[in-house]
Amino acid sequence: MNRSAPQVVARRILIRGVVQGVGFRPHVYRVAARLGVAGWVVNGAAGVEIHVEGPLERVQAFVRAVEDEAPAPARISEVQIDDAPAAGLTGFEIRASRRDDAPTVRMSPDLAVCHDCLREMNDPADRRYRYAYINCTNCGPRYSIIQRLPYDRPNTTMSGWQLCEACRAEYTDPLDRRYHAQPTACPMCGPQYRLVVDEREECRGPEAISRAARMLADGRILAVKGIGGYHLACDAQNAMAVDQLRERKFRKERPFAIMVRDMAEARRLLRLTDAHERLLADAARPIVLAPAATELPGVSPDNPNLGVMLPYAPLHHLLFAVGSPSPLVLTSANRSAEPIAYRDDDARERLAGIADALLIGERPIARRVDDSVVAVRGGAPFIVRRSRGYSPGVVARLPAARPILAMGSDLKNAVAVVVDGQVIVSQHIGDLDELETHASYAETIHDLLAMYDLEPAEMIVAHDLHPEFHSTAVARSLPAHRHVAVQHHHAHVASVLAEHELLAERAVGVALDGTGYGTDGGIWGCEFFVGSVADGFERAASLRPFDLPGGDAAARFPVQAAAGLLARLDDLPDMSAPPFSFPRRFRDAVQLVHKNVRCFRSTSAGRLFDAVAALLGFTREATFEGQAAIWLETLARQAAVEPPLPFTDLDHQVLLRSVIADRLAGRDPAEIAYAFHAALAGEIVRMTNDLCARHGLELAVLSGGVFQNELLLDLVSDAAGRRFRMLINRSVPVNDGGIALGQAAVAGLIPSPSGRGLG
Ligand code: ZN
Ligand code: ZN
Ligand code: FE
Repeated sequence: MNRSAPQVVARRILIRGVVQGVGFRPHVYRVAARLGVAGWVVNGAAGVEIHVEGPLERVQAFVRAVEDEAPAPARISEVQIDDAPAAGLTGFEIRASRRDDAPTVRMSPDLAVCHDCLREMNDPADRRYRYAYINCTNCGPRYSIIQRLPYDRPNTTMSGWQLCEACRAEYTDPLDRRYHAQPTACPMCGPQYRLVVDEREECRGPEAISRAARMLADGRILAVKGIGGYHLACDAQNAMAVDQLRERKFRKERPFAIMVRDMAEARRLLRLTDAHERLLADAARPIVLAPAATELPGVSPDNPNLGVMLPYAPLHHLLFAVGSPSPLVLTSANRSAEPIAYRDDDARERLAGIADALLIGERPIARRVDDSVVAVRGGAPFIVRRSRGYSPGVVARLPAARPILAMGSDLKNAVAVVVDGQVIVSQHIGDLDELETHASYAETIHDLLAMYDLEPAEMIVAHDLHPEFHSTAVARSLPAHRHVAVQHHHAHVASVLAEHELLAERAVGVALDGTGYGTDGGIWGCEFFVGSVADGFERAASLRPFDLPGGDAAARFPVQAAAGLLARLDDLPDMSAPPFSFPRRFRDAVQLVHKNVRCFRSTSAGRLFDAVAALLGFTREATFEGQAAIWLETLARQAAVEPPLPFTDLDHQVLLRSVIADRLAGRDPAEIAYAFHAALAGEIVRMTNDLCARHGLELAVLSGGVFQNELLLDLVSDAAGRRFRMLINRSVPVNDGGIALGQAAVAGLIPSPSGRGLG
């Protein structure tokens, strides 16, 4: 019998996913030290590479522990384990990253401050007591401070601060929580916050934060630098402060998000499910939309939901600890529609008339990253705005041999790049209708291309089919291997199939939204398709077309949309009289339809919602996109379950005639609103079911901004039952924030005319 040491085995392990810049190598080192195995770990081009050797059971325990005990911010997508020859190593080491690696490794999104750091920050004996820039390998900023890859301190916005001796000792100790924590710092060596009032710097460090908290308690409006940009903050329970903020920011009615001190307070203010609470506590710390349990005047007018988030930067915790009121309104610092301010000079200039003081952080922000917004649908997360905490995470994989740049839509824009078969969607950029947003758009594209070392001339550039979109013009101005125009609703449908990695799957695609340019030059928005991403989509049905008068203004004035949908009703009553009391704009718009001047053929579901909202009382101007539809859904929720209004073959004329008749008969508008939702849901399900039966399909995918409507989505889900499998966007928004993913998928799967295969 062999009585010598147990047999030594060796394994080579490759771990892919978000595993760099999240404390993964020290974690591997600690596990190896604990189990007494030898080898090394290194950050490679494809992920973390490990060589381990030792007795079989210990190597097996090592492999399990590396995966099971991974640091919280890590996201392991794949673990590949191969046998390897033992090299007779004795110790375990962390090897330096190789510099020649192609920078295609995944960058980590920004992470909320962790519990260990919070404990230190609140400990008077700790050297980082009340230090606003505390972080470690498990937490802190990432994407918002990276200037170029690889992710090392000199390549971040922390490059200007030299580590002091104590910080350096932590940074170089593999057993320390701050081993290679790139943004690490302390009050001795790192950046601080400064309070600027009336152009004068009043104080710096903890005093600045205490003064800021007092000003907030006094009802003042502050600009506060966060992780991805500046926020405007005020006491959410101070109606005067909230009013003033609306006035100064030119934001009339769109809801403000709030930040609360802790989960207990979130529970007091909102009706939260477990799914909501999990999202609130997630390291991404998004704004979570949930039903309000109490009214905060002016914060979320005419809206039953509130957007709430927990503190995520150490600064937020500090503000609450030193007396800031809770909840705080915390909204992106900009004037309405402009991009969020993130550079200090720019903030001082642009926010001068809005904020009473600025709490300026000295650590620069490399790029603007807004707060993300997430709701819950069917018990699972449903992304409304994908930004901080999620970007630049990978949302899907695509078998594209050539890199792709997808330009997104002109509304709620985000762009995407496909590199090494991974789809990376940028942070939310916004609506491309202002010069400032155009600049931000160009910056973000440039930034993504530079980050991943991509040349547009080598890429497929995918863009919307709309000839007048700004994004189309920018796409055309770029040199490209190929330009590919993708129809808007094809992109919506493809985005769902792409994120579920069903690129070859044939499905019924249902896309409902406000506006998308159709292949016939019309404005589409209530579309049914049959097909697949790989083979393309056929338009199988749509809302009965109508003539929409006045183009863009039609989306702002529900009565104008109503004119388009009602102009050809022969028995139309006097709409200027009660109960409709439509303003004159309606009559003028009807004239346009009859004269066929400045009219567009449209099948938009968004405008159908607007028209019904107008008929039920929303006759004023909408001050933000989707407002009338949200108003209509809120109204419907006040009714009990109602049978659907008549609606067949997607013919809105019958439907609208009954809305008018019911209204004239004095029926409760809430009931009509509910019956409208039920009718639309029923018709969506009937049409989908028909198409599934006709084409032998069992899968339906839903996308488009209209499906942000929770009542509609619930009614569709209920009616669909088990008749077909139904998928909706989860990793990207159903609204136009998801368009870039769909464009990338469609463009990536179009065979190359030169016959070089995919891409
Ligand atoms: Zn930490
Ligand atoms: Zn230090
Ligand atoms: Fe859309």
